[in-house]
Amino acid sequence: MSNRERDSSKLTIIPRKHHKISRKSISEAALKVLYRLDKSGHRACLVGGGVRDLLLGKHPKDFDVATDATPEQIRQLFRNSRIIGRRFRLVHIRFGREIIEVATFRGHSNDTGRSELNTDGRIIRDNTFGDIEEDAIRRDFTINALYYDIRDFSILDYTNGLVDIESRTLRMIGDAEIRYQEDPVRMLRAIRFAGKLDFQIDRIASDAIFKCAPLLEGVPAARLFDEIVKLFHCGNASRVFILLRQFQLLKYLVPSLDNWINGDPDAEMLDFIDQSLVNTDARVNSQVHVSPAFIFAVLLWPVVQQRASQLCSNKMKIIAALDQAGGDIFTEQIKTVSIPRRYSQMAKDIWTSQPRFQRTKGKYPRKLIGYPSFRAAYDFMCIQSMVGLIPKEICSWWTDYQLKHKPIEATRPQSSGRPDHRRKRNSHAS
Ligand code: ATP
Ligand code: MG
Repeated sequence: MSNRERDSSKLTIIPRKHHKISRKSISEAALKVLYRLDKSGHRACLVGGGVRDLLLGKHPKDFDVATDATPEQIRQLFRNSRIIGRRFRLVHIRFGREIIEVATFRGHSNDTGRSELNTDGRIIRDNTFGDIEEDAIRRDFTINALYYDIRDFSILDYTNGLVDIESRTLRMIGDAEIRYQEDPVRMLRAIRFAGKLDFQIDRIASDAIFKCAPLLEGVPAARLFDEIVKLFHCGNASRVFILLRQFQLLKYLVPSLDNWINGDPDAEMLDFIDQSLVNTDARVNSQVHVSPAFIFAVLLWPVVQQRASQLCSNKMKIIAALDQAGGDIFTEQIKTVSIPRRYSQMAKDIWTSQPRFQRTKGKYPRKLIGYPSFRAAYDFMCIQSMVGLIPKEICSWWTDYQLKHKPIEATRPQSSGRPDHRRKRNSHAS
């Protein structure tokens, strides 16, 4: 069946008794929003990741609501709300720490059925409202276009998304190339969902990635930062990394790392990246704090180290060399992905701490342990020792040292040289 035929498929309604989404698994805040919109005479459905993840038996990261109420109408119904976005106007409704994102059904903005585009075919504005069916076909993947209707708790499927949930397939709604042109970030979303959910990207959507990848060069650096963080904090960053390499997308995100990988990469260093991502995944999956700084510190480490050793051969001291190399690499990196200074600073602290772990005499250890980024730097060092980049004894020494010197603040660090994923606080903390 071609994508086009699939798009014209009719609505399938799955009544409550034939699906497994229970209101018990939907957050109270999301239910409150849905009920209030419904009571005020609006259509209101849960959509996107909330429905998809519940159908897959997973815990949704957040809940998105779609409605026929306009942003202004939503704003009036909820005092705790604010309108955000320009390209897509949305309403955020806040309940304590939880935010429910409410979007008005989108429609076609002109006779061609397309939104306002720039010369590359990229959507620059898309605020024309439509009905629920139009809204469904403007979403990215079929599995993201399932609606849970608060009126009767049924699921509405306009794009055959349920079949794709069953077969674990990521299929683009409509013509994949056009959809990537409209918004190249959809290519990264494909990688993220394939990685996170362990789905296969269907042939058409995969082939189009190879064709459209260069369009990522036109994506604003700030949006790429958000996407890169979502990619590496999705809970399956190790698979995401494999997919980014397989689809040759790394060069649009971390060009220096891509260059390094295409050279003659050191196996232990590759192993270090992989282990760090495994470590991050374990933390994300047990709701332990993670920081984008750690991800950038890991991804840029091979090139920072390479650059620093060149500087050292010109008689510069190692810490100064790492500091300068780190600064230079970030200057290049932020041309592609803008990285807030607090994260680049923390990554630099992690790097410049690494030689300091070698100094275990005198006042040095006490000083290092007091550094704000110590915990993240320590994890980073232990992963290096685990893969053989530095001697195992250094990690053990610091593990013991912390036991003796921080008996109250620090919970027991890992004894085996493996960072402990179960700790709920401390390392990676910014
Ligand atoms: P997550 O679990 O990461 O929240 P999600 O699918 O809910 O995944 P969101 O970014 O929260 O992703 O977006 C909510 C929904 O909005 C998506 O499921 C999709 O239907 C739609 N959407 C988001 N971004 C795009 C996009 N760039 N193009 C088309 N549809 C999009
Ligand atoms: Mg979501």
